[in-house]
Amino acid sequence: MTDEIQKTSAATFALGWEEWAALPDLGLPAIKAKVDTGAQTSALHAVAIEPFGGEKNPQVRFVVHPDPDDPSVEIICSAKVLGRRTVVSSNGVAESRYLISTNLKIGNHIAETQFTLTNRETMGYRMLIGRSAIMPDMMVVPSQSFINPVLNFDIYRKGRRKTLNMKRRPLRIGILTQEPNNYSNQSMIRAAEARGHVVECIETSRCYMAINTHKPEVHFEGKPLPRYDAIIPRIGTRMTFYGMAIVRQFETMGVYCLNGAAAIGGSRDKLLAHQVLAMHNIGMPNTAFAMTSRDTKGIVNLVGGSPVVVKLLESTQGKGVVLAETKKAAESLIDAFRGLNAHFLVQEFVKEASGTDIRLFVIGNKVVGAIQRTAQPGEFRSNLHQGGSAKKIRVTKDERRTAIKAARVLKLNVAGVDILRSDTGPKVLEVNSSPGLEGIEKATGKDIGDAIIEHIENNVSSIMRIGKN
Ligand code: ADP
Ligand code: MG
Repeated sequence: MTDEIQKTSAATFALGWEEWAALPDLGLPAIKAKVDTGAQTSALHAVAIEPFGGEKNPQVRFVVHPDPDDPSVEIICSAKVLGRRTVVSSNGVAESRYLISTNLKIGNHIAETQFTLTNRETMGYRMLIGRSAIMPDMMVVPSQSFINPVLNFDIYRKGRRKTLNMKRRPLRIGILTQEPNNYSNQSMIRAAEARGHVVECIETSRCYMAINTHKPEVHFEGKPLPRYDAIIPRIGTRMTFYGMAIVRQFETMGVYCLNGAAAIGGSRDKLLAHQVLAMHNIGMPNTAFAMTSRDTKGIVNLVGGSPVVVKLLESTQGKGVVLAETKKAAESLIDAFRGLNAHFLVQEFVKEASGTDIRLFVIGNKVVGAIQRTAQPGEFRSNLHQGGSAKKIRVTKDERRTAIKAARVLKLNVAGVDILRSDTGPKVLEVNSSPGLEGIEKATGKDIGDAIIEHIENNVSSIMRIGKN
């Protein structure tokens, strides 16, 4: 029957009063539409309609529940805003709506179509097809419905993310940072904007939140923050504790976080990180840790005797890392740290590394760049903050595997893995969850910011199953 009509009216495309349609660019492969020739512009019923991008790049993010009978399926969409349109709905109320343009697909017919966005969840049809969408070659047959192929909402329930997601949509990305203007943030912002996304920097320390089960939110300056598609945590060491809480809150809200709160905490705690790495047989310098002061000698012996490296657990940029050349020096250093109630690690000194280490930048399951950092003369710490210099290097397969595995076992999607090249293979020193981009981009000439944004694009999900994760 359906085929019949389409065949007999070769040049004409027939539409019944209700039809199944798709908005492929919005990630909506099936939606039931009512053809309403009484309306001028087509309309899409959406909730949580939020503009973003400002005047420079006006976008709107909204949520569609394609299946009116299953509100647990939420599709997050975003599109460029063409403008606003005042629409008087059938009940006589005037409403100013966002106007967007996207491909509308019915059967094999596909055409760019304008839609207004409106929040009327009570409507049985999530889409109205108005006069302006009806092309001269189309014919509306008001006495019939579903002339075109019937689709099914099941695609949302059993559909895999990949098949539902449109290739790319403008994302609203938040960077949690105290320093929006630093090199790393600027590199990611530039890359994201070039890819059509919108980035907002959020000052971590000024976020606050109410913790409850029904409506998790993060607030900022008196208002809840908008819905982000992705959060990039750039949490400084002084902000670890509070930053983790904020990231966790975003995770609770279902926002894709480039690195999760638990992973950030796990890698920041050097003791925990070393234990996890050891558990997974990842090479590292012999490391010891103790709490009471009774067995200083034992600790030094445990790691193979002097020289040893003593590290404050919360050290970064090499600031809490000390080399003790002799047993005596090691013992007095350990006693001194203890006297300050500091937590620290004692580590075998990997001599053959002689003031150099390598940093492998891992994104997902790939090493996207590697540099070697060399300490300045007379210094064993190769941190760039300690005056070390960086140059691009080739890494071995073993080193690459080690870095990827270290990031994976610490559950970091993005990580800077620091490795010492020792006589017995790669030894992981630490895994950084907010690795800087400047040193590695400048030394390798690679656009690491762009690789991070690409990873986000590939991992932001636009389909949500509320309460059915
Ligand atoms: P931080 O977090 O402060 O950067 P690291 O553990 O990364 O602390 O150590 C800083 C630097 O000191 C390293 O980049 C490396 O050059 C040097 N270093 C650290 N541990 C050792 C070790 N066990 N053997 C040799 N050099 C080391
Ligand atoms: Mg380091």
